[in-house]
Amino acid sequence: MTAAQPEAAPPRQARGERHGKGRDGRPPLLVLSGPSGVGKTTVVRELRDAYPELWVSVSATTRFPRPGEVDGVHYLFVGEEEFDRLVGQDALLEWATFAGHRYGTPRAPVEERLRQGVPVVLEIDLQGARQVRQRLPGALLVFVAPPSWDELVRRLSGRGTEPPDVVERRLAVAREELAAEPEFDVTLVNTSVGEICERLVALLESVDPGASVAPPVDGAGPSLGPGSS
Ligand code: 5GP
Repeated sequence: MTAAQPEAAPPRQARGERHGKGRDGRPPLLVLSGPSGVGKTTVVRELRDAYPELWVSVSATTRFPRPGEVDGVHYLFVGEEEFDRLVGQDALLEWATFAGHRYGTPRAPVEERLRQGVPVVLEIDLQGARQVRQRLPGALLVFVAPPSWDELVRRLSGRGTEPPDVVERRLAVAREELAAEPEFDVTLVNTSVGEICERLVALLESVDPGASVAPPVDGAGPSLGPGSS
């Protein structure tokens, strides 16, 4: 991946097919995915400022908090048993094992926002994005790509939050994630957080919520198993 400019590649499907202009112009569900270290979290943080009506889902995870991460704000930090319980109760819209830890999107708060017409963003890995696509086909899947492989390695190693073996694991997963980029509706290359946010706001304002993404009223959906990395 060598593009030098932030760019919105043309959507994989004609926008009108799944995301034509809506009555109120509000897309309900944006899924941001892309390799670990690409800067999704920073993008979401800026996007929240740029588009305050957006609701950012807080994932549950079994990994330990990094310095500065706050339970209930950055993640819901749960133990393995609690995560098992959430899975058993079908309380997660999607979930996956990523680099040895489990991550999942609590289903009820997302469904509630969607029913209220509040736009929602999920920042999740590839496996989760695939599950959301199956479960809520009207979701807009955005792939955040690094400017280059070397840049991704630099960012992932440079942030210093993980030991070298974990960085290696994440890079191995990143190779697989990059290969899946064509599955997404839109690709944005993260050369500038500001520009990528502008693109996302433009997408948020132009995409049709349609009725298709609204979750079933009873919350029932296909039973989705996770993949694993
Ligand atoms: P990190 O440990 O760096 O915060 O996250 C590792 C990976 O897990 C990232 O790619 C992040 O997007 C992904 N992730 C975070 N929350 C979720 C979630 O709820 N579901 C899934 N499937 N992936 C998640």
